[in-house]
Amino acid sequence: MSAIEITGLRKSFGSLEVLRGIDLRVESGEVVCVIGPSGSGKSTLLRCVNLLEEPTAGTVRVAGAEVTDPEVDIDAVRRRIGMVFQSFNLFPHLTALGNVMIAQRKVLKRGKEEAEKVARQNLARVGLDDKMDAYPAQLSGGQQQRVAIARALAMGPQVMLFDEPTSALDPELVGDVLGVMRGLAREGMTMMVVTHEMSFAREVADRVVFMDGGVVVEQGPPAQVIENPGHERTRTFLSRVL
Ligand code: ADP
Ligand code: MG
Repeated sequence: MSAIEITGLRKSFGSLEVLRGIDLRVESGEVVCVIGPSGSGKSTLLRCVNLLEEPTAGTVRVAGAEVTDPEVDIDAVRRRIGMVFQSFNLFPHLTALGNVMIAQRKVLKRGKEEAEKVARQNLARVGLDDKMDAYPAQLSGGQQQRVAIARALAMGPQVMLFDEPTSALDPELVGDVLGVMRGLAREGMTMMVVTHEMSFAREVADRVVFMDGGVVVEQGPPAQVIENPGHERTRTFLSRVL
């Protein structure tokens, strides 16, 4: 059973077809980096996996459960899937600890003590042992993004989706966030990562997927797709970002 199994996925916004038949599997423990030009449908693809967007056609399975089944318990599905966005969206009036506790309390109905214990564990996991009581305004962008990662991890997800998690960060803060993600990959977390960080994709990805115009143009190990792409569209894209 694959961790994520996407079959014949299509998504239109009105007359604009953004995903035009995507077939993609992510195996348990695998790190898949999705690359491609702006507007190629990368975010929409991730958003269809946790049903932030409703697919127009096709199926998505996460850990065997079909998330596109109309009968599905969408909240149960979302609990299995951690998502990290470009923007961190922390609550400004809550500390790092409070931000990592709140969804555990509200969504998982965890007691205060357990939620706090799990929050502390996960803030430590992202290297913020000393920032538990800081408010978002007192944290750098990279630290805020690490709080957002800890918040997702605290829910105990089976897969983690990252949508350009470092794109909003000052260059000197990118490395810390990528370092945390590298650590998660090493721990065996199943991850689907949309990124423009080619060195991260090259080092960490088990597989790189190049998307353009709402389709998967090619996919394979980074050494193949990034170093020796088989398609002209991939070469053109890489020549712009590398
Ligand atoms: P990427 O993440 O690769 O840059 P997106 O998935 O964000 O691409 O967007 C793909 C296309 O879908 C773009 O043309 C974008 O304008 C369009 N799009 C995305 N979300 C919506 C929406 N909610 N309504 C209408 N068009 C959208
Ligand atoms: Mg995007």
